[in-house]
Amino acid sequence: MESGFLLGSFRELLPELKEKREKVKALGLWAPQAPEKLGGMGLSLSEFAPVSEELGRTPLGHYVFNSQAPDAGNMEILIQHGTGEQKKAWLEPLVRGEIRSCFSMTEPEFPGSNPTWMSTTAVKEGSDYVINGHKWFTSAADGATFAIVMAITNPDAAREHHRASQIIVPTNTPGFRRARNIPVMGHVGEDYTSHAEIFYENCRVPQQNLLGEEGKGFAIAQQRLGPGRIHHCMRWIGICERAFELMCGRAAKREISPGQPLASRQIVQEWIAESRAEINAARFLVLDAAHKIDREGSHAARQEISLIKFFVANVLQKVLDRAIQVHGALGLTDDLLLSHWYRQERGARIYDGPDEVHKAVVARMILKEYSVNIST
Ligand SMILES: Cc1cc2nc3c(=O)[nH]c(=O)nc-3n(C[C@H](O)[C@H](O)[C@H](O)COP(=O)(O)OP(=O)(O)OC[C@H]3O[C@@H](n4cnc5c(N)ncnc54)[C@H](O)[C@@H]3O)c2cc1C
Repeated sequence: MESGFLLGSFRELLPELKEKREKVKALGLWAPQAPEKLGGMGLSLSEFAPVSEELGRTPLGHYVFNSQAPDAGNMEILIQHGTGEQKKAWLEPLVRGEIRSCFSMTEPEFPGSNPTWMSTTAVKEGSDYVINGHKWFTSAADGATFAIVMAITNPDAAREHHRASQIIVPTNTPGFRRARNIPVMGHVGEDYTSHAEIFYENCRVPQQNLLGEEGKGFAIAQQRLGPGRIHHCMRWIGICERAFELMCGRAAKREISPGQPLASRQIVQEWIAESRAEINAARFLVLDAAHKIDREGSHAARQEISLIKFFVANVLQKVLDRAIQVHGALGLTDDLLLSHWYRQERGARIYDGPDEVHKAVVARMILKEYSVNIST
């Protein structure tokens, strides 16, 4: 199945994936991160960490267990902020795996790294919101049943953090126009693996579709991104482990002259040792952040979350790069997962906040203790 995926197909795999999803359900392992009362396993973040790592070893793991982004993040905010009606209409079928969703915040004309600044608006008219705007990188929009859209509802709010709201928009609403799936390096680009450019053109939804309070869109996005970022980090450690095994296996077997495996070379030993140390460090940092979120909530763990977001993304890239180097030309082929992940996960240093922003968050929080206040 993985080889079909590497050949660039996702939709063709759907019947087989459906079968596997049914099997996971029958085994009682469905949606491990979701609450038990909704049909999940109810694992805490710390409990989910080793599970997510295991699922991350294959690009299809999280999808098969219904714990993939962006659905897992959308489930969380619907659990925390959804009304009874919204939960029934959107959350419950999402957790059951009957529908998919997407999260539509980033815009081509505005910096995604500053989520308080955007142009999409939602204006009240009668009992509706009328949404106009242009979004892109709305992951998994192709085939999604609904989008959670960030739009400015309160342009005159004193603080920019209080101007946007989150609104649930069914994707079959007139005025929701998915213009294209953007071709993105290393991403298959269809169905759940797509990243769409979307126009909202007088897209009208009832005001009951507001998620949480009006003007709280930024705060809810931060709540969503906290656990979302840690989910990515857990998954990346799974990728690291698989790449590491491939690297060690190849170094042990590939002879560079008779009787001389690549592993006999000190530079390869250095890559192996450094990768082991960095992956272990990444795992401990992720578990530390997970424990803190479990104990105190994601707001209290902002520093830990930002720290792992850039640290683990960079460990991932180093490990993948070394594993490819050890494989030589073979590492560049699409016969192995390494080249897929190398291309696909370059985005890890950008999505859910670029490295530079997370480093600034960490430094700012530390420097506050030294009475240095740096504005954003
Ligand atoms: C694979 C993928 C999936 C995505 N999925 C979604 C999704 O589902 N929904 C959604 O809404 N968005 C999604 N995004 C968008 C993503 O969140 C943004 O790309 C990200 O927030 C960065 O915004 P930007 O691309 O506009 O870059 P910009 O904000 O234009 O930043 C460009 C670069 O400037 C630098 N920079 C920015 N700010 C600072 C700063 N303060 N200090 C120093 N340097 C800085 C960084 O190097 C950054 O890479 C996705 C992106 C990718 C790549």
